[in-house]
Amino acid sequence: LPRIGVLALQGDFEAHLRMLAELGAEGKAIRLPEQLEEINGIIIPGGESTTIGKLMIEYNLLEPLRQKIRDGIPVWGTCAGLILLSQETDNALAGQPLLASLDIKVRRNAFGSQRESFETDLVVPELGEAPFHTFFIRGPLVEKVGPGVEVLATLDDGTIVAVREGTRLGTAFHPEVSGDTRFHQYFLRIVESVSN
Ligand code: GLN
Repeated sequence: LPRIGVLALQGDFEAHLRMLAELGAEGKAIRLPEQLEEINGIIIPGGESTTIGKLMIEYNLLEPLRQKIRDGIPVWGTCAGLILLSQETDNALAGQPLLASLDIKVRRNAFGSQRESFETDLVVPELGEAPFHTFFIRGPLVEKVGPGVEVLATLDDGTIVAVREGTRLGTAFHPEVSGDTRFHQYFLRIVESVSN
C-alpha cells in the first residue's frame, strides 16, 4: 500500500486525504521534516502559495522537501502546489520560495476577474476518454514548458493546465474536489511504478 504524504501547512489538504482514503491508499498529513522519511509520494495542495512557501521555511520543510524531490520521490502539485513546484513564476511576491522541481514557468491568478474561478470539462488522454470535470479556483496557468515536460491537458484555447515531467505532476486545477478519482489513481500508479 503506497503511503502518500500531503503537505498540510495550509490549503485544502483535507480533500486530498479524503480522496486517498477513498482509493484505499494511506494518506499522511505532513508537517515535520522527519515525516518525509515515511512516505512514497507527496502531494502539495492548493491554497495560497505565498503562505505555504513562508510556512515551509518556518517548519524547516523547504530544503528537505527539495532534496527529497531531487532524490526522486514522486510529487504532485495542485494549483498553489503547482506554483510552488515551478522553476519560475511571473508575479511572485518578494521572497516567495519555489521548489523549482518542474521545468515550467507559471503565471499566478492567471484567469482574470470574471473567470477567476470556473469549472470545465477537460480532455485528459492519460485518464481515458471520459472528460474530467474539474474546478479552477484562482488558478495559475503554465506559460512555458521545458523540453522534458509533457503536456497532459489544455483548455480549449490551448492554455496548458496539466503537466508531467518524469515522476512529477502539476495541475492548475483542483482534482481533489471533483469527486472523480482518476487523477489521484494516475498519481498512485506513478508512485507504484517507482516503489516496486
Ligand atoms: N491563487 C493562489 C496562489 O496564487 C492559488 C489558488 C489555489 O490554490 N486554489 O497561490
